[in-house]
Amino acid sequence: MPKGIWIFVEHAAGKIRKISLELLSQGRKIADQTGEPLIAVIAGEGTSPLAQEAAAYGVDQVYLLDSPQLAQYTTGAYTSALTKLIREKEPQAFLLGYTAVGKDLAPRLAQRLGVGLASDAIDIEVDPEKFLIYKRPVYTGSAHSFVEIVTRPSLATVRAKSFPVAEPAPSRQSEVIDATVTVDPEDLQVLLKNVALLVTSRPALTEADFVVSGGRGMKAKENFAILEELADVIGGAVGASRAAVDSGWIDNQFQVGQTGSIVAPTLYVACGISGAIQHIAGMGAAKFIVAINKDPEAPIFSVADYGIVGDLFEVVPLLTEEFKKL
Ligand code: FAD
Repeated sequence: MPKGIWIFVEHAAGKIRKISLELLSQGRKIADQTGEPLIAVIAGEGTSPLAQEAAAYGVDQVYLLDSPQLAQYTTGAYTSALTKLIREKEPQAFLLGYTAVGKDLAPRLAQRLGVGLASDAIDIEVDPEKFLIYKRPVYTGSAHSFVEIVTRPSLATVRAKSFPVAEPAPSRQSEVIDATVTVDPEDLQVLLKNVALLVTSRPALTEADFVVSGGRGMKAKENFAILEELADVIGGAVGASRAAVDSGWIDNQFQVGQTGSIVAPTLYVACGISGAIQHIAGMGAAKFIVAINKDPEAPIFSVADYGIVGDLFEVVPLLTEEFKKL
């Protein structure tokens, strides 16, 4: 089989993550356009059931990297195992999600393999001569750059929600290959002993269809409870501006923006957020933006589809009550 379009599949709690389903779906289209096979790489321990889930999205081959050393993501072990696999199989393209793992792993793969990397792509065009051209936002989203990777594999990370998830065909089969995993001892500088799961019923920030975010206007940590209530009523995630994170009101994993997560939900509700360019870089792609701010001149209103000039401590509970009636 030729070299292929390879997708690094992330998974959690026994299911493939949505970003990887998006990549598999788009990978199938790229494979069809380029005549390359679509190949999924699933690393972890006991992950063979995921091969069938990947097959349903049109994967031709699945490489299972199954090892106790890969049971949890660690930079050294994953870099080591994937570098070897890529060197041996020489994929044409290797795509990862622009996730915490993808952002950590892809630059290291690029360095080990001596290849270029397009990070945070939001679109991929197939060019008959140049192969893949990646569209990337630059200057906090005020321009786009178009990047060709001249080395192979063409390595890129892709932003969540850049591509839709295709309808799966559960009866579809693919060839499953148990890849031998070797992790060099010198690559095991860190051994992950345990992961304490913070159980939340809310969707992941980058995958949520609804996001309710709070900024400095929230004034105190305990006030985020009103945003959590609204988020729970609409089945959304809670986010925050950097000012709220820096004030210690919410953990930094919830920061939206240039130096936080980039989200593209159907609905983004910005509460007490002024709309600095670095914040808009992380949420400007939302389909509908609702801004609640007591300052009618706040820049957030220039990107909002619906603006409510008012005190968030009055408006948010009213919204929550209205959503409860739906
Ligand atoms: P403010 O700008 O202080 O705005 C608070 C708003 O709340 C005001 O508009 C006010 O009118 C309103 N308000 C106050 N009380 C109420 C009330 N009761 N009801 C309604 N409205 C009220 N920021 C990010 O968010 N994400 C990033 O990733 C990020 N990365 C950055 C990277 C760099 C390199 C730099 C330099 C900055 C970055 N920032 C980022 C910071 C950014 O520039 C802003 O400082 C920050 O976004 C401001 O947060 P805010 O809107 O919550 O606070």
